[in-house]
This record gives sequence, structure tokens and C-alpha cells, in this order.
Amino acid sequence: MSETLGFFDRFLPKHYHGAPMAMQERLPTVIDPYRLAEAGRELRGQIGLTGMDRLTPGLASQDGQVSVELRFGVDGEKVRYITGHIQTTLKLQCQRCMQPVDVVVDRPVSLGIVPNATDAEWLQPGYEPLIVDTPVVPLAQIVEDELLLAVPMVAAHDPGTCQANVVQEEEPAPVVKESPFAVLARLKKTSS
Ligand SMILES: [Zn+2]
Repeated sequence: MSETLGFFDRFLPKHYHGAPMAMQERLPTVIDPYRLAEAGRELRGQIGLTGMDRLTPGLASQDGQVSVELRFGVDGEKVRYITGHIQTTLKLQCQRCMQPVDVVVDRPVSLGIVPNATDAEWLQPGYEPLIVDTPVVPLAQIVEDELLLAVPMVAAHDPGTCQANVVQEEEPAPVVKESPFAVLARLKKTSS
């Protein structure tokens, strides 16, 4: 055993157990919003749409990333809050031409963290309540909630780019008029 350890000691760098510094902060999967608020933390990064099962059935594509920028803190009234914004481009179905249409979502976030619905009623008007009654919350759930509020009920392309309009503006299909000779021929046939 000691021989094996000696082998690794010789070939591995001294701080091999230490993770290298991440180039970009990786977003945690679950968060404790109260703790982050008290620590005055900030979260920035990308989170995938895949797995947001309440949102994605209404989308034309589940591919995409949401840019998340959230600041946690405690305000003068001792309310733990989350502010910031989330940005993404969602693919919805155009209600005119039924083709996918990109909908840019840039939603400001202003959440007051409360343990129950009763406390939510006491929040200042600037805050939407975020009821947290569990030790941790999936970050994706908070982001998904915000996206669900931001998604338009009806999506459509701009009139200039919609396929439905292109079809409308095309020359109407020429109506094939029956040759008067064919009409005469049929009359002759039925009368004989
Ligand atoms: Zn369209």
C-alpha cells in the first residue's frame, strides 16, 4: 500500500486534488435563497431549457439557454430578495403560419423571499413573492416560473416576415377556364 501511495506522490502534481479555477461561474442546480440573500451573493450564468417540463410543451423547440443574472440580498425592511434579470430566446409557434418564431424574453426579476402565502401579502408592491418553504429550491424552477410569466399568450412573426403573409401576397393561382370549344363539345355530346 505504501508503495502505491509513493508512486502517486511522485507522479501527480502537489495540488492535484484542487479543482482548477473555473473560467465562468457554474450555476448551482439547487439553491438556498435565504442563505444566498444573507450572504449577498450574485449568480450569473447559463441554464438550459431542457427539463423545464411546464414550459417546454408550449415551445416549438426545447433547445436554448437562459442567461441568468441574479443578485441576492436583504433590504432595509429585512426582506430577503432576489433582483436581476433573465434573458433567452424561445421558439414558439406562429399563430398565423404555424412555423417556429423566435420570441426574445428579457424579464426583470424582483422577488421577495417569504416562507408562506400569508407573509407574501406583506411584501412591498415592487416584489413578486417567492414562497420558499423547503431548505433548497431548484434554480431552474425559479427561472422557469419567471419565463412562464413572460411568455406571450399568442406569438406571431412580424407581418413582413410571416409565411402566412407571403402566401397571401402571391399571385392568386390562375383559374383554368374551360375552353368554349370544350363546352360546345360537351353540349353536342349530351344532346346527341
Ligand atoms: Zn408566421
